[in-house]
Amino acid sequence: MDLPVEEWKSYILQKWALLPKSVQVTISKAETLSDIFLHSSSLLQPEDEMFLKRLSRGYLVGKDPNAPLFYREEGNKKFQEKDYTGAAVLYSKGVSHSRPNTEDTSLCYANRSAALFHLGQYETCLEDIVRAQMHGYPERLQPKMMLRKAECLVLLGRLQEASQTISDLESSFAAKPTLAASQFQILQRTLCRLKMKIQKKENLTETVSAALTKAFEDMDLREENKQISGASASVSLCTDPFKGRYLIATKDILPGELLVKEDAFVSVLNPAEVLPLHLGLESKWDTRVTNGDLYCHRCLKRSLAPVPCDGCSYAKYCSQECMQQAWDLYHNIECSLGALLLTLGVFCHVALRSTLLARFEDAGEVIRKLCGDISNKDTRLPESKNLVQTLSYDLGGESEKNGKTVETPIPGCDINGKYENNYYAVCNLLPHTENHSAEHKFLCALNISALCRQLEAASPQALMTGLTSSKLKAAMAPVLCPESSIWGVAMLRHMLQLQCNAQAITAIQQTGSKENIITNSRQVRLATGIFPVVSLLNHSCSPNTSMSFVSTVATVRASQHIGKGQEILHCYGPHESRMGVAERQQKLRSQYFFDCTCPACQHGKHRTTAEPRWEAFCCRSCRALIQGNEVLSCGNASCTESVSRDHLVSRLQDLQQQVGIARKLLRNGKLERAIQQLLGCQHDAESFLSAEHSVVGEIEDDLAQAYAALGDWQKSAAHLQKSLRVVEIRHGPSSVEMGHELFKLAQIFFNGFAVPEALNTIRKAEKVLLVHYGPGNDEIQELQKMKSCLLDLPPIPGGPSL
Ligand SMILES: [Zn+2]
Ligand SMILES: [Zn+2]
Ligand SMILES: [Zn+2]
Ligand SMILES: [Zn+2]
Repeated sequence: MDLPVEEWKSYILQKWALLPKSVQVTISKAETLSDIFLHSSSLLQPEDEMFLKRLSRGYLVGKDPNAPLFYREEGNKKFQEKDYTGAAVLYSKGVSHSRPNTEDTSLCYANRSAALFHLGQYETCLEDIVRAQMHGYPERLQPKMMLRKAECLVLLGRLQEASQTISDLESSFAAKPTLAASQFQILQRTLCRLKMKIQKKENLTETVSAALTKAFEDMDLREENKQISGASASVSLCTDPFKGRYLIATKDILPGELLVKEDAFVSVLNPAEVLPLHLGLESKWDTRVTNGDLYCHRCLKRSLAPVPCDGCSYAKYCSQECMQQAWDLYHNIECSLGALLLTLGVFCHVALRSTLLARFEDAGEVIRKLCGDISNKDTRLPESKNLVQTLSYDLGGESEKNGKTVETPIPGCDINGKYENNYYAVCNLLPHTENHSAEHKFLCALNISALCRQLEAASPQALMTGLTSSKLKAAMAPVLCPESSIWGVAMLRHMLQLQCNAQAITAIQQTGSKENIITNSRQVRLATGIFPVVSLLNHSCSPNTSMSFVSTVATVRASQHIGKGQEILHCYGPHESRMGVAERQQKLRSQYFFDCTCPACQHGKHRTTAEPRWEAFCCRSCRALIQGNEVLSCGNASCTESVSRDHLVSRLQDLQQQVGIARKLLRNGKLERAIQQLLGCQHDAESFLSAEHSVVGEIEDDLAQAYAALGDWQKSAAHLQKSLRVVEIRHGPSSVEMGHELFKLAQIFFNGFAVPEALNTIRKAEKVLLVHYGPGNDEIQELQKMKSCLLDLPPIPGGPSL
């Protein structure tokens, strides 16, 4: 997904392997990115481009005139099954294949408005009704939609507009008595019902409490840092030759304190499960729901009612405004390249979008600063050659290599020492050119040159459009000139930077059907972005911060007390609760080119036990932990039990398969059978897994889920508490995982009216989640609603309780 599709990757690597040794050496020995780029791109042949074109053709990104009808019919099926979310997504797919101002578009919007109505999304429903009308909704179908509109307005309390809509409808009936008598009667009856609703509503006093709207908005930094935009005043930027740049605490920091709040400089939605069509789909059109259907391609907001790009079926946005902004900033160039970008992967796409966004900064200024780092006093606009050189080096190191005593403050900072979220800071992130393998550099360079050739072929002038002033246009002319390779070198630099500097933007997705009382949540990767300020943080396998996202904005909070002078650390992925030491070290070395010396790694190296407790096996006779490599023996001195690892591993696989069957039963609402299956799994697990094994926890969690669905709160709570213990041992008592688990337990107690237990758990969950997410978080708001509901409850003498 980040890198190009497999076929293209292996094609290029094969091409590399067949190159004459001398050419390979030239490329591996090339010192600058521009040399790498120029040598490599001269090797890109027309037949390579043809091959790439054929691969891209597998992605359907254009508008297919036959698709809207197909998707509408598929949507109607879901609608009949009362799966309104599924229906809405399919109607959206229909819209994205329709041409503007056609009946197809209007019918898809109209149908989607009906699905949204059933989902209770009345505002969005109204928007879709307007869209349906804008695109020419047929006159004959109008009355039904107008009734829906009136009903939405009533439900939203916009009674005057509702009355107006109803009287408009009545007069249009009077004007056109062409309606069939039966239809007319139905409409009349609905109108009567609506009128009554309006009267009832008008009698009610306005009680829509503003308290229910977001009570807390602490999404802002208490005091912004003067040196680093988007960071708190409690941190400071340092640099040293070994660690590079890093952040330290300038005062004692409490858990939960907001340290960085930064909007991505650039972000690209991950297509995730989008597969090329030739990979065996049942029909010509894909009916699966992907992140691309649910999240805005610009701001990443979740929406069931996206508006598609007029030019392609691929890009979808939460609103007209987002669509326009994306178009002006980058999509005007990207629109015709959708299939190619999907084939070349997200990193290539991020590289392209970064350079497109750079057009809108004071580009002359960026170039001047970039070159100022090398040839100090040269303040006139550089020749394009200078920029190529500048982009070619790891900027920070270069000023030293030249032996100049230039007082460059910290790489990436401006003349006043300020570090900001801009293209200049992005360019200063390290590409680690010397660490990447020659094949990898060749692959990236060929990707970029293929992309450049497509860009030139599409329209060299297009790159210039959207530039706001003629002054800027003049400044950018050398950069955008097709002959120059600056564009390509810049993109190559970004592509190499991404391996170490790409930040996954994630969201918490609620899973489970509506019938599930307990909401399970899982983290999903939505997009890949570059955050220059977040990139200043170094890695630790047991970090002292926690990161979360709201749309494209990252927030970093202290997850524990951080003393004055301590470094602010964040985890690049290999967390100690998810991976063993050896695996972490290997991952950090191969992807980030460093050996981790964090306390967790140093401690881990001296530990004797091979695996952590959540992966440990236990003895079948005495239940003590068993250890060893190929043959494991009991840790209990008086016990002689031993067993082969292969045997245990295959038992674990069997067990996981059985758990999978239970989950399927659970999903299909076969609760009793699911419980039987899970109890069997639990019994089996006890005989060979440690009590803190993660699979043991998962089984308990599923049992809790099943009992909750049956309404047996006591049993549900008992099982969830067992799962909670496993989570606590693995992730720690104040981890975000613990927060989600406590949230579930609070829901169970709440639904079981176990008031003191519920209040107690709500408080614990709130405390943990606040540290990681701050008060704006959905789960925290939900907890607060539960709490106020419980506190308002009249005491029930002898009432139901756990
Ligand atoms: Zn948006
Ligand atoms: Zn488009
Ligand atoms: Zn480590
Ligand atoms: Zn034993």
